[in-house]
Amino acid sequence: MAGSPERFDIVVIGAGPVGLSFAASLAQSRLKVAVIEQQPLERLANPAFDGREIALTHASVRILRELGVWDAIPASDKSPLQGARVLNGSSPFALCFDSPGGSREPLGFLVPNCRIRDALFKIIRLQDDVQLLCGHSVVGVKNSETGAVITLSDGRQLTARLLVAADSRLSATRGLLGIGADINRVGSSMLICRVRHERAHHQIAVEWFDHHQTIAMLPLMEGVSSLLVTLRSSEADRLLAFDDDSFLVELTKRCRGRLGKMTLASTRHAYPLVTTWAHRFWAPSAALIGDAAIGMHPVTAHGFNIGLSGQKQLAHKIMTTCRDRHDIADPDMLQRYESRLRLSAAPLYHATNILVGLYSGEHPAARLARHAGLRLAQYLPFVRHGISAMLRR
Ligand SMILES: Cc1cc2nc3c(=O)[nH]c(=O)nc-3n(C[C@H](O)[C@H](O)[C@H](O)COP(=O)(O)OP(=O)(O)OC[C@H]3O[C@@H](n4cnc5c(N)ncnc54)[C@H](O)[C@@H]3O)c2cc1C
Repeated sequence: MAGSPERFDIVVIGAGPVGLSFAASLAQSRLKVAVIEQQPLERLANPAFDGREIALTHASVRILRELGVWDAIPASDKSPLQGARVLNGSSPFALCFDSPGGSREPLGFLVPNCRIRDALFKIIRLQDDVQLLCGHSVVGVKNSETGAVITLSDGRQLTARLLVAADSRLSATRGLLGIGADINRVGSSMLICRVRHERAHHQIAVEWFDHHQTIAMLPLMEGVSSLLVTLRSSEADRLLAFDDDSFLVELTKRCRGRLGKMTLASTRHAYPLVTTWAHRFWAPSAALIGDAAIGMHPVTAHGFNIGLSGQKQLAHKIMTTCRDRHDIADPDMLQRYESRLRLSAAPLYHATNILVGLYSGEHPAARLARHAGLRLAQYLPFVRHGISAMLRR
């Protein structure tokens, strides 16, 4: 182990989209920040396509714009979402979400996760006060009221007044801080790939709850969609092992020709689904952000949106504390951060989990309940408009 520990004001663990956004949000703070990432620098500098197309709300676009990230993403990678349809089984009925009053303002935008990461990385590289330490994972954390000591996999130690964990929904740092979490391994996986297809998508997303599978079709550029198939994990593994031709035949069959003739337009990816809710979002001299605090089920496409808003809240509170020359790890400030995030995220987190339960149940009563639920929502305009408004917020 070399020399005495290097000192930072803030050490962020995890250079995912939320960890990087948080470091970017601190740009004007003059705080000395380190971001630790287990992946090598080359992979962060050239993030590979990972299948995820992130549906961004207008609020998220505003935050990314403030950070200079939105304009750094090529226009060709921003696909407007003009509406959404929710289908149940073989019923022709569709619950529709559209922009109000027939306006052409999109509900949101779809952007590949790798493009968001790429743009954030470029912004961070311009920040003199942020040091990126890549290719190392965190193996030890000691925290107390006076600060945190972080041990890296190469034996190096860093000290921080505030440690911020952004190291994914299975955050090891959360465990090292002694913070428990409700972790639900859903038992299903999401298979994702881009497909080129015959029929036009008109920038309308389709979420289709079918028997033993859920299919989402997310409209990207003309004639191209991202196809997300949620299946039992064993079934997803079976499909993933197919060669491209057999995989495509299987997808076409499962989509029942909704998109017409299809060809594969990307690599395929699988995500075993896990939801998490940390019991606390802070500990002495430490805070959790992003999926390390709240790991949403992707069906409502809100994990990053919540993480982005949460990191902004924490960064804002830290900047205010700094300006007032108070402690940046003040427990009252961290408690306020937790309370606000809980209040804003809990309804969506729980509603999403209820939706997942309702729409993955195969019992005839569950099928009937979701059919009735869709009809009811269609005839309760405030429900549909409420959801559309939430997306456009
Ligand atoms: C299939 C799918 C589709 C999704 N679609 C949407 C969507 O449409 N809209 C939306 O808002 N959200 C969506 N999400 C959620 C979104 O992807 C996550 O909320 C977001 O990636 C969380 O970012 P994060 O930075 O907190 O964590 P992550 O993206 O998980 O990044 C964590 C980082 O920490 C690093 N790390 C982990 N452990 C360590 C360690 N010990 N030391 C150092 N580094 C470490 C990892 O290498 C990684 O770079 C989707 C998720 C999935 C799985």
